[in-house]
Amino acid sequence: MRAICAARLRRERADKLSARVRRILVKTLYTQPASLAIGAFTTVTAATLAAWFAEMPELYVGCVLLTVIAVARVTAALGLSPNSHGTSTRKLELVYEIGAFSYALVLGMYGAATIWLEAPSEVQVLMVANALCYGVGVSPRNAGRPVIGIGQLALACVPIMVACLASGKPGLIVLAVTIGLLIPAMMSIVLNVFKVLRDSISAAETSQQLADKMQHLARTDVVTGLANRAGLNHAMVETMMTVDDDTRLALIWIDLDRFKEVNDLLGHPVGDRVLSEVARRLTDVCPDGSTVSRFGGDEFVLFCPVDDRKHAERIASEVHAEIMRTVRIDGDRLEVRASLGVALLPEDGRDADTLMQSADLALYHAKVGGRAQTRFFDKTMTRDLVRRREIEDELRAALQRDELSIFFQPIVDLETGKIRTFEALVRWFHPEKGELRPDEFIPVAEETGVIVTLGNWITAQAARTAAQWPEDVTVAVNLSPLQIRAPGAALGIRNALREAGLDPARLELEVTESLFIEDNHATAAFIEELSSIGVKFALDDFGTGYSSLGYINTFPLNKIKVDRSFVSGPNVGRKSDAIIRAVAEMGSTLEMEIVAEGLETIEQVQAVREAGCTLGQGFYFSRAVPDYLAAMLLAQERDSDTRRVIG
Ligand code: C2E
Ligand code: CA
Ligand code: CA
Repeated sequence: MRAICAARLRRERADKLSARVRRILVKTLYTQPASLAIGAFTTVTAATLAAWFAEMPELYVGCVLLTVIAVARVTAALGLSPNSHGTSTRKLELVYEIGAFSYALVLGMYGAATIWLEAPSEVQVLMVANALCYGVGVSPRNAGRPVIGIGQLALACVPIMVACLASGKPGLIVLAVTIGLLIPAMMSIVLNVFKVLRDSISAAETSQQLADKMQHLARTDVVTGLANRAGLNHAMVETMMTVDDDTRLALIWIDLDRFKEVNDLLGHPVGDRVLSEVARRLTDVCPDGSTVSRFGGDEFVLFCPVDDRKHAERIASEVHAEIMRTVRIDGDRLEVRASLGVALLPEDGRDADTLMQSADLALYHAKVGGRAQTRFFDKTMTRDLVRRREIEDELRAALQRDELSIFFQPIVDLETGKIRTFEALVRWFHPEKGELRPDEFIPVAEETGVIVTLGNWITAQAARTAAQWPEDVTVAVNLSPLQIRAPGAALGIRNALREAGLDPARLELEVTESLFIEDNHATAAFIEELSSIGVKFALDDFGTGYSSLGYINTFPLNKIKVDRSFVSGPNVGRKSDAIIRAVAEMGSTLEMEIVAEGLETIEQVQAVREAGCTLGQGFYFSRAVPDYLAAMLLAQERDSDTRRVIG
């Protein structure tokens, strides 16, 4: 069955090819119309002069016929356009054939008539030579359709041959024989020319088809069948070249959030199916005239015409909603999330490159802003980017230039009011830009990989400072996931502890939930190695990420820090209170400390204490302070303790 189908397909393809080749061959009949016109003009003139010289009025009939046919042929050729697909190949061929055959026949008959009617010999020579030259000249010209070429030759020559034979004159009989030999010789030439023409046109067609196919492959993504990067570029350039000034276009850059996890947890085949499903949905939802492309990995780019900004917003929100619909694969339900960055032509970029940059920047903001959201490009984003680039350039130097320092913020026991830990928070005092917030430069450090050097430096500094504090006060250091994944991460921390002479039990590492989702092996090994020597781990910013809780049992965590958005800020209310209570209860069951972050007022302190939190951190107690002030806070505390004991 398959073999039959394949054979049929091959045949259809071959037919299609030969139809195209035939069309090209037929078109050769219509090339150089000037040669046809010149030919017609000379023969008609010769025929008229011949009739005049011979003084044979009957020959004028031939002149009239030749003129009528020539005019009809030229008119028909002008009326039919061989390059337009509206005219069928068959029709083109037929029209030419009728004209060519009738013209050759009349010319041949005219030549024959001069012999038959015994016209003066120079008239005979003139018209016989005309007919024979016409036949011999035109047949290879029309070799693209050999039937026509050979037909013209035969129709021009055979009547003359017959007339010569019929005359019975020896000279003319020799001429008839010569013509008889000429015909097969010319036929073989015509057929040869035809073969060469056909084969070279077929070869050119085949290589053109191959080139088209290669180009299609080069511009298509194999997993989803969408356009790939090259395909998108091509479509964008083509569209932008043809649009007028009023046209508006939107470029929507889509990045699937945490898609790596799908690949890592479920395997690449499932990942590919998810990508194909997303591709299908995008294709369904995009407006006519759009280009949907996969831009490598888990990124898609949609390029579509829009009426205005509102329209673009509507499309973006439809796209977002479509992607977020649960994907079902083999009975499993998968929640796919995506971030979208949108840029509009012309306001956000007039050429493809600028438009892409703008959409990319908008996408970056969507991701930084918490993912699973859509951002439209605006001009401030470029300013942010410039600032980021500056930060990137200066960060490495800042370490050497001593522009960075560590501040310490106390974490206080809510029962006793005593400082139990200081959280080390990095500060950058830039000579021109002033104080830079870690939220601004830590992400840059993470992206550029500087975080590894920076992180090691912070841990070493923090450990050195903490070694000066009383033994019951610990230090907490923030670790970014990238630092943990760097080779020799655990060793770096052990070295810092050894060099500072700090007991590992006095170091606490604050990690975020994203760590547990992104990289299980390396994380587990890191936590295990350091836990075994006594280092503690705290879960930072709890409640802002996945909060899947599964890992709380798997990893040896000592502390949970409830994010400050549950304590202060616009979303605080009954719900957040209930969450804090639930977390605090879980903490007491699992013997973990629960820290409430961001405490700014006495009411907040009372509320979280009442909810069951054991520790508190926030401006109410103290801001992050330099090391000497941290030491002073501790000394004051000890002082008042001593006084209380003495008093
Ligand atoms: P985080 O780990 O959640 O740190 C607590 C942040 O909350 C600090 O901001 C602190 O100044 C601020 N904060 C403390 N109490 C209050 C309060 O009562 N109200 C308000 N509104 N804010 C309060 P900071 O120092 O700007 O740090 C921001 C973030 O930068 C940190 O969040 C942490 O994720 C990161 N970070 C800071 N230092 C480091 C570091 O040395 N290494 C790494 N990897 N990340 C760091
Ligand atoms: Ca922290
Ligand atoms: Ca935090």
